[in-house]
Amino acid sequence: MAEDVVVVGAGPGGLAVAAALRQRGVDALVVDRAAHVGESWRNHYDRLHLHTPRGWSHLPGYRIPRRFGRWVARADVVRYLEEYAEHHHVRLRLGTAVERVDVLDGSGADGPRWAAHLADGSVVTARHVVVATGYNHTPVEPTWPGLETFTGELVLARDYRTGRPWAGRDVLVVGTGNTGTEIATDLAEQGATRVWLAVRTPPHILSRTRFGVPAQATGIAVRRLPPTVVDRVAGVLAAVQEPDLTEHGMPRAGRDLYSRVLEGRIPVQDVGVVAAIRAGRVEPVAAVESLDGAEVVLADRTRVAPDVVVVATGYRAGLEPLVGHLGVLGERGLPVTHGAEPSDVAPGLWFTGYTNPISGMLRELAIDAEKIARAVTRA
Ligand SMILES: Cc1cc2nc3c(=O)[nH]c(=O)nc-3n(C[C@H](O)[C@H](O)[C@H](O)COP(=O)(O)OP(=O)(O)OC[C@H]3O[C@@H](n4cnc5c(N)ncnc54)[C@H](O)[C@@H]3O)c2cc1C
Repeated sequence: MAEDVVVVGAGPGGLAVAAALRQRGVDALVVDRAAHVGESWRNHYDRLHLHTPRGWSHLPGYRIPRRFGRWVARADVVRYLEEYAEHHHVRLRLGTAVERVDVLDGSGADGPRWAAHLADGSVVTARHVVVATGYNHTPVEPTWPGLETFTGELVLARDYRTGRPWAGRDVLVVGTGNTGTEIATDLAEQGATRVWLAVRTPPHILSRTRFGVPAQATGIAVRRLPPTVVDRVAGVLAAVQEPDLTEHGMPRAGRDLYSRVLEGRIPVQDVGVVAAIRAGRVEPVAAVESLDGAEVVLADRTRVAPDVVVVATGYRAGLEPLVGHLGVLGERGLPVTHGAEPSDVAPGLWFTGYTNPISGMLRELAIDAEKIARAVTRA
């Protein structure tokens, strides 16, 4: 089967590229391993809302309906993505993963250059392949010493939907990104008896809005400034804006807000964790060192005995099986060219969604989709 463009992944990134291509008369095929579009959003925890306001989170050619409110709920993000695919008549092949992308033997500049090998054994050839399988593809699994001795329950954040099953139990949440801090808040709200939050690197915590202005506005304003300048300015602002939780066991974050963003760690948007920590409903503790039967040993040598440990220590892009053999991956397994940047080693292979920008990922996915569509139609 020969296609002009194959897009791998029917999340916001892949759908946005397909829609932007259709607006230019190219009918891409979008392949997803899941049975529906927007699979990542179907599986996030129930409490989640977009941290970026509706007006700055839409994809090209179809806005998020006003009825979904300013901070769009997880289930409405899924509805939006369904409506989006329908609105743009995106051509979908669902329920089949792309396992590997290969250079097509004997391919010429004008013919198909790529072969996408699908899990059902079929091969789709294409002039262009756009990889949009998600930055948060593969959860980082814990490797703590003594893990095999742990007698409690261990849950990956990816499998966490709500704290309801753990009402009346003691839970340790590991990881202080947006996911870990919100899961800790959710557990406290849903009636867990004690909620500990294990902190390795104290997070930067920002209010979602300040005087009605979303934090994303600052992200958009500073995204092209040198990191050292942004770190300096953010350091001064942090002293007045970020909450001081030191008396509750959470040390202050360093003066490195933007440098951390460039390493893929965006600041925490406060959707309840600050109040929960101040009320003692979420208790910051030291990082996890090891597990020992029913107990978790922390970096300061204290121990806690949770019924459940929720692991929220991040994700990897997991691109190696798909494209690792093509020489297109660099540091941390991320693509060396991104968006509409052409690749010398793999012309016609494009990547979207493998950065974690301070200006909002959905916004950047939308911008990159237009750029990729332009580059593809020019090539
Ligand atoms: C908890 C959370 C909250 C977020 N909140 C915001 C926010 O408020 N604002 C914002 O701008 N951004 C936010 N983001 C970041 C980003 O916008 C989302 O992660 C977004 O879903 C990324 O879109 P994507 O298409 O790149 O990846 P995904 O949505 O992960 O989509 C990837 C798709 O690829 C499919 N796939 C994977 N591997 C294969 C394969 N081998 N073959 C075929 N299909 C495959 C998957 O099934 C999936 O459907 C958030 C991220 C997370 C994790």
